[in-house]
Order: sequence, then C-alpha cells, then structure tokens
Amino acid sequence: MPLTCDYLVIGSGIAGLSFALEAATNGEVLVVTKRSRDESNTKYAQGGIAAVLAEDDSFESHVQDTLVAGAGLNHKRAVDLCVREAPGRITMLRDAGAKFDLAPTHSHADESSPSLSSRARAANPAQQDLDLHLEGGHSKRRIVHAGDMTGREIERALVEAVNANRNIRVLDEHMAIDLITLAKYGGPEVCAGAYVLDVEQGKVITVLARATILASGGAGKVYLYTTNSDVATGDGVAMAFRAGAEVANMEFYQFHPTCLFHPQAKTFLISEALRGEGAILRRLDGTPFMKEYDPRMELAPRDIVARAIDHEMKRSGAEHVLLDITHKDATFVKEHFPGIFAECMRYGIDITREPIPVVPAAHYLCGGVTTDLGGRTTIPGVWAIGECAHTGLHGANRLASNSLLEGMVFAHGAAKALAEVERSKPWPDVPEWDVGEAVPSDEAVVITQNWDELRRLMWNYVGIVRSSRRLRRAARRIALLQEEIAEYYWNYFVTRDLLELRNIATVAQLIVECAAARRESRGLHFTLDYLEIDSKSARDMVVKRGVPAHLGLPVPEKPVVGSERAR
Ligand SMILES: Cc1cc2nc3c(=O)[nH]c(=O)nc-3n(C[C@H](O)[C@H](O)[C@H](O)COP(=O)(O)OP(=O)(O)OC[C@H]3O[C@@H](n4cnc5c(N)ncnc54)[C@H](O)[C@@H]3O)c2cc1C
Repeated sequence: MPLTCDYLVIGSGIAGLSFALEAATNGEVLVVTKRSRDESNTKYAQGGIAAVLAEDDSFESHVQDTLVAGAGLNHKRAVDLCVREAPGRITMLRDAGAKFDLAPTHSHADESSPSLSSRARAANPAQQDLDLHLEGGHSKRRIVHAGDMTGREIERALVEAVNANRNIRVLDEHMAIDLITLAKYGGPEVCAGAYVLDVEQGKVITVLARATILASGGAGKVYLYTTNSDVATGDGVAMAFRAGAEVANMEFYQFHPTCLFHPQAKTFLISEALRGEGAILRRLDGTPFMKEYDPRMELAPRDIVARAIDHEMKRSGAEHVLLDITHKDATFVKEHFPGIFAECMRYGIDITREPIPVVPAAHYLCGGVTTDLGGRTTIPGVWAIGECAHTGLHGANRLASNSLLEGMVFAHGAAKALAEVERSKPWPDVPEWDVGEAVPSDEAVVITQNWDELRRLMWNYVGIVRSSRRLRRAARRIALLQEEIAEYYWNYFVTRDLLELRNIATVAQLIVECAAARRESRGLHFTLDYLEIDSKSARDMVVKRGVPAHLGLPVPEKPVVGSERAR
C-alpha cells in the first residue's frame, strides 16, 4: 500500500524544514531524509545569513553586491525578492527558536532595543538589534550569525520545531530514488510522488503526494575534495533531470580555497579569516607563491586564490599546498582561531608551530533544477527549493551568505503557492517498485571503485581550471562509468551507496555538458580555451533529458511584467 500525503518534502535542511513548517498549517507533510534528520549542509554553515538590518544599509546595496558577484547572469527579480524578504525570514527563524548573536549592548532578555535599525523596524517591529558581521563581497555589515556555527543553531531550531508539529511526519534513513511521473504510465505529464528506499529495511516504498518538493541540497561529493556533508550527492538534480525537468548552469561550482588536507578530515574548512590575519600560502618547499598570481596576494578574492592553488598543485603534482601562520604569536593564534586550532590539533597539527596542509574544495552548486519565483519546476507537481534549485539568484557566482537565505525565501514562496492543494482527485494507480531480476549485490567493490574514479576525474579534469580537452576526456570516462553503473543498477538490489553513485554520475555528466557548451570564462567557470567573458553568452546554460546543453533566452534586464516566471 502506498503512503499518501499532501506534501512530500525530500530533504531536511533549511529549505525542506522551513517549507514543512509553513505547509503544515495547510495540510499533512511527509519529510523523507536519507540520513538522520539533522544531517545536511545547513548544519555545517559557519558564517551566517545575509539580511539588510543595519541603519546604514539598504536593499539596493545588497542587490548590487549580489549582482557584482553574479557576473551578469543573475535574474534580477529573484535577487530583489530574496533581498527584500530577508528580514522577514530572519524573524521566522527566530520565531522557530533560533538564537542569533546580539550586538554587545543587547541580550536575549532585552527585547526592546533603542537603537533598532529603521529597516529592521519597517520589516518587522519585533526585530531587535542583532550583531551583524561583514563578509567578503558585502559592502555593509549584514551577516546574521550564531558564533561561527550558525547552521548548527538553525538546524537545531528547525528540527525541534518540526518534531513538535503534529502535521509533520519525518522518516529518517529514507532516500528518494526517483520521481513518479504519470506520463511514464500513460497518464498526464505530472508528478504524483516518489519511490523511496527505506535504507534500514532495504525496501522500496511508494509515496503519493499532491505536491512533491525537492529540497535535497548540493552535490559537493561529485568532487574529490569538498566542504560538504556526505549527503550532498545531487540527488534532487539527478532525479529531476531523469524525470525530464529543465536544469541550468551546472558549470558554476564554487570552490572554497582552503580546506584541511588530511586523510581523516574530510570536510574541515580553514576560514579565510586566517589569511586575513596574515597567514601565507606556500609551496611544499616553503616558497610563498601568491605574489606571482595577484598583487593582493593572500587577500585576493576567493576564486583567484583557489585558481592559484589549483595551478600550483597541477604544475607540481603535489597533493596540497601549505597555509602558514607560524610567524604570528602563538597566543594570538590560539585566541583568534580556537576552533581551527583545536580541530587541527585533533589531527596532530599544531598550527602555531607548523603550516597547515590545505586544498581547495567544492563548496556550493550555483546551478540546479530550473524554477520560477514560486519554486515551480518545469514538471507539474514538482517544486525545487534550496541548493538543488536554480532560481536565478546567484548567476555565475554566489555571494557569501546568500544561500541559506535563498533556501528560506523560496521555501516560503513555495509554501504560499501551495497553500491550497487539490484534494478531491482520487490517488492515481501507479505500480509498486519492481525489483525485476535483481539479486543482492556480491560485488560492492564496483561501487567504491567507481565513486573514487568519478570524484578524482571530476577533480582533475572538471575542477577549478578547465579546458575543452580535459572536458572531452572527462565526458568519455563518465559515459563509460555510467554504463557500468546502469548495469549494476538493473542487476542488483538498490542500496544508498549505489543510488548516490548513480546520482553523482548524472550530476558529473551535467556539469561537463554545461561547461563544454559555455565558450567563455565567466564567474566560477574558467577555461583555458576561452579566457574572456563573451557578452553574447550572457545567458543561462540549460539542459534537459534528450536536449543537449545550450544557451537559453537572454537573462531579462528588467522585471518581467505580468509573469510569475523568473526567466
Ligand atoms: C561548510 C559549509 C559552510 C557554509 N557556510 C554558509 C554560510 O555561512 N552562509 C550561507 O548562506 N551558506 C553557507 N553554506 C551553504 C549552505 O549551507 C547550503 O547552501 C544550504 O544549507 C543548503 O540548504 P538545503 O536545505 O538546500 O540543503 P541541505 O542543508 O544540504 O539539506 C539537504 C537535505 O536533503 C537530504 N537529501 C538529499 N538527497 C536526498 C534523497 N535522495 N532522499 C532523501 N533526502 C535527501 C539530505 O540528507 C539533507 O537532509 C555553507 C556550506 C558548507 C558546506
């Protein structure tokens, strides 16, 4: 018997959980999440959420900063929407119980602040003075944060609020495999839910829903080095693509320049603040190298530093470079970077005495499933929110701290758009999951081998610096791996590892296709064969099953009057 619900939410990060909380006022919500409910990229977010709250800040300034980062591909309506809705979304999080840092003169007990910013007051009279950080790319202080573990606090608050809500049911260790599109069974072109693997029981259940919401996050695991959680395997993008949805701008993957390189430390970020305080990037023989790349040296923008490190590693064959802060007073280092000091010590690295081995790491997927301003995808019945969606906000490069914001704003928009779901129609008759001739796997080594191969080839050929030749090599190898994965998929019972491998292979294919079709260097896409921006290519790269990646319509300069669509 299928499970039924009004809203099926796939994923329990900031996007999925904030949608669930709002939608629960209108119907029954089922959240499926492939590990425990608090495991997500959201949990690891450090910096915070961008919102215009300070007296000297303005929506125009936040819009402008976002457009500068996006290198000509932002959809201005999406930018405008996110920026204007940010203060209200911060209030929603606080109402859900999130505690953010307050400016020194305020405490959580002091609810009436005399120095409230006019914007905060206008957006929400209950808003009190929050401590606002400044981050690279933002021209004003506007980062709402909870120490340097903002994501952990947001996830805690949202999970607690969801646990207390009787209209929301969460199934941990349940992984969505594929969307159920009725066209596949001779019906209309509409999605009716998803097949979901109960990971612990090894059984596939059918979930029927009036609306299916993809909130499955990013895809950092497609690269060998990533800051992302293990859950970030691009499942939502892969599922939507297989079901025939339009996907866009997959070539724009943001890399963080410095992630700890250590066999046991998979995802630890070494904050840019270290370079801000004078840490020097060195080759393995100790020579500093940033002056050869940019006059701003270690303080050059994120993508330039990441590219320089990548170039050094490719040139020398080294597996990492070094980040050195040993010339600073040890007490200063320990006081300013207690978290980094403690984490590195766990791996036997005393950063006051020895340089830190670092590599750049895949951090954020700017592209994803194409949506309009209400989160609708091109498949009726499917919405996409958060990092798996391409809303047009980020363009060709993401401005720091805009992504948690985007997740909430589009979750809110989708919940509003879905306030009334059609409940009168009978549930469609769809077949249960068919195991066919499949048997239990006796060759799991195929999965580990292909995971490693795929992630390494993406790192080497489709990473920070690309070329047409490297992309062609990658495309050939990915096609071969996909053949092997497909054979395995049909012959053996599905497992989470196999499904994730199948999904990262699809995401890899999409990144390569989009990168190969973009014949310019723009934002996060840098290719040795086309070093400049091409003004004629100021368009999204769109791709759909059966339709090769191609440039879409021009990105609208002005809001599209009378239309809800972002493009
Ligand atoms: C180290 C780090 C630091 C960051 N710092 C910041 C920051 O300071 N500010 C900022 O704005 N952004 C930051 N980001 C980016 C930001 O955290 C993410 O973009 C954002 O949290 C994504 O939210 P989401 O809800 O879309 O996805 P996630 O939070 O990743 O949640 C995805 C959920 O989907 C589930 N899932 C995935 N596939 C399936 C499936 N097939 N079936 C069922 N469940 C599935 C996962 O288990 C997870 O619960 C950072 C990211 C990282 C990794």
